[in-house]
Amino acid sequence: MKKYKIITIIAGIAIILLQFSYISSIYGKFIQDMTLKIDRAYKIAIDEEMLARELRFNRLLLSLTKEQRDSIYQIIPRAEFLDIDIEDYRKLGVFETSGDIYTHSREDKHFQLKDLMDMPVLDSLFCALISTKLPHRFTLFDKEMQATDSIGNSHITRINYSKYQPLGLRGFQSLQLDVKIPLEVFIKDEIGSLLLSLLLMLLAIFCVLFQLTVIRNKEEELKQRDEATRYIVHDLKTPITTAMTIAETMKALNDDKLLHEAMDYNYNKFNHVLQQVEELKDATSEDATRYKLQMQQVNLFKLTQRVKEECDMLFADKEHTIVITNGLPEGYLIMGNAVMIERAMRNLVENGLKYADHGVQVEIRLNKTEKGVSVDVQDNGWGIAPEYQKKIFKLYFRIPLEGDYERRGSGVGLSSAKSAVLAHGGKIWVESEPGKGSTFSFTLPATRKRIT
Ligand code: ADP
Repeated sequence: MKKYKIITIIAGIAIILLQFSYISSIYGKFIQDMTLKIDRAYKIAIDEEMLARELRFNRLLLSLTKEQRDSIYQIIPRAEFLDIDIEDYRKLGVFETSGDIYTHSREDKHFQLKDLMDMPVLDSLFCALISTKLPHRFTLFDKEMQATDSIGNSHITRINYSKYQPLGLRGFQSLQLDVKIPLEVFIKDEIGSLLLSLLLMLLAIFCVLFQLTVIRNKEEELKQRDEATRYIVHDLKTPITTAMTIAETMKALNDDKLLHEAMDYNYNKFNHVLQQVEELKDATSEDATRYKLQMQQVNLFKLTQRVKEECDMLFADKEHTIVITNGLPEGYLIMGNAVMIERAMRNLVENGLKYADHGVQVEIRLNKTEKGVSVDVQDNGWGIAPEYQKKIFKLYFRIPLEGDYERRGSGVGLSSAKSAVLAHGGKIWVESEPGKGSTFSFTLPATRKRIT
């Protein structure tokens, strides 16, 4: 699968995951808030239900005779809570404050008077306090943990809140509240943020898909352009080779020195165009990175001399010097593809001469290294600004030059040189300073590498 398609899929998944994590975080926060709200309502409902019973009980007391009241007071445990250590209850997580203990000691009093919790009152108080309709169930347990009473939705599942609460200090009874917070409540509550997040997600996905379509269309366009170029290139080769053959035939048929020079000049010019056509053919071939060329023994020094001679001819009308500094042992051979290496070398030397003023000097240094050979092509031309030094190796990339600095070109040369060097397992790079010149270097390993 194409890289950009994989990246688009990753971007799409990332956007969706991001949205999910956002929604799950707001859902978590919502459940947390609801839990706090329920917890508070639960406590207040217990308290108020108790208060209602107290009031009822006090009113009842007032209507009794002194003897009846005394007999009731005998049952009631008095100030029992004062002997209790609050820390023990805190550790158990049952009661927090002395006030809680006081309230619950009253619960024991009511239990002994058989004035038990009024479940419908508790439930309606809870519902009023919570204000949102939530499926829930209160269950009252006795000392043996047997359910004695319950109110609310008897069959609720997926419970989000469940709290067991002892009533009184003597463990006579306890209460449990189970609550379910349905998804609909969450959706209703957070509809604004959910819609906004959905909208943003759709927008982001739309943008990513739009990009994908643009890239695909561009790719299709490029493919068509490459195909057209391939046909033109193919048709161009025949007239060029014919012209080259004519130049050679004319030379063979005629002894005139001037004609020989003119035919050599023509031959070189045509050869140069042919090389460029070949490069363009490689660059636009369906699988430009694969070369089906065989390795052979190459004399790098001789190859460089050939390049120098061709470039001297090609730039005959521009004042220049090309110097070869050969650090290789005599007759030194490397394994490689001569056509590709020569093309890379010619591109670098030509560029050195092309992107410079009259009087330019190009030095080609050949050296043996630990792992193979190194080639440096140094010029004292215009140099390359740092921001372009990496980009120039990309296919079709050209530095925008204007006026006197404008030169003909296709942006294929350096990319082709790079492909050739990489195909041999070498490296290519540039060091340059604007106004001072550039040094293009490449290495070729000495190891026997098969290029496929
Ligand atoms: P072309 O020469 O056809 O434009 P290349 O791929 O050979 O394509 O080079 C890409 C660009 O890099 C050129 O347009 C040029 O601006 C810049 N460049 C290449 N070599 C040199 C050099 N020796 N000195 C200055 N600029 C260079």
